[in-house]
Amino acid sequence: MIDTTQEMDVRNLPRKGKPRPADVTGHAFYGRDILSVDQFGREDLEYIFRVADEMRTLVERFGSADLLQGKVLANLFYEPSTRTAASFMAAMQRLGGQVIPINNVQYSSVAKGESLPDTVRTLEAYADVVVLRHPEVGSAALAARYAHKPLINAGDGIGEHPTQALLDIFTIYEEFGHIDGLKVAMVGDLKYGRTVHSLTKLLLLYDVAFYFVSPDILRMPEDIIERVKASGHSFREVVDIHEIIHEVDVLYVTRVQKERFDDLAKYEAVKDFYVVDPELMQQAKERMIVMHPFPRVGEISYAVDDDPRAAYFRQIENGMYVRMALLAAVLGKA
Ligand code: ASP
Repeated sequence: MIDTTQEMDVRNLPRKGKPRPADVTGHAFYGRDILSVDQFGREDLEYIFRVADEMRTLVERFGSADLLQGKVLANLFYEPSTRTAASFMAAMQRLGGQVIPINNVQYSSVAKGESLPDTVRTLEAYADVVVLRHPEVGSAALAARYAHKPLINAGDGIGEHPTQALLDIFTIYEEFGHIDGLKVAMVGDLKYGRTVHSLTKLLLLYDVAFYFVSPDILRMPEDIIERVKASGHSFREVVDIHEIIHEVDVLYVTRVQKERFDDLAKYEAVKDFYVVDPELMQQAKERMIVMHPFPRVGEISYAVDDDPRAAYFRQIENGMYVRMALLAAVLGKA
């Protein structure tokens, strides 16, 4: 079990390692861990949006650059991943850096019973930054306590997925040119889906209205609802997507997280609760977008893919630009 009793104040994380002024261009995230979206304010987001956009231009014009030449990323994944793992690798490589990919922990010393702190301390001996995905809430904070190099949380169980939320909010910004004033619906597994937990917290920095659409057993956790209430944002919890589809600007659809269910019969009962198909899209606004962190397992029919409002593949591409911006920032090269 992960010990989460020692809470970390993520807003004030110390810099790691020795300061190397020659490396630094002054960004606040230089040498810091990225553990939670709570570390980000609007100014940080604007900075990330700007740099991610520059990264897009860089990739489109030149394919790659040598900004992180000589730097090494350890990509440590204890849970399956396609997009997060691959986009961190692509981000590092497109900036001229190298990657140590450890995504089959069954073939590493973890299978021999090595602890997370020991694994992380080993990898940081070879690398300049560590990306960690782990099934337990609090694992990234725990690992960061032991690591001397910046550690980036790539998903800790049902806890947070901060880099996904950053690419999600960047996508919303890119698609609309603004975030304030939008109506955002999150649909599906709001209980176990870490991406909607992180995205909701991040969106609280903006003037948005929330719709939480889920079956009763998959409602948004109470602590997040409390934060939404305390911040004074408008929100509605609904079960029937048809009640709200015509008014939303962003429809953020999620997969029911099968791997988090103890009782598979319960999963079976809700797994096909929502399906976004062309018929449903007919009821949506002409100017709105559909997002999904992927993988999708039936929540959005393939027939929606050609609809210009389907933003999920653009969202995936944005993930690489945002991760390029983040890696450059924590390594002091942004
Ligand atoms: N890829 C996302 C995550 O790691 C969403 C999902 O798995 O459903 O949380």
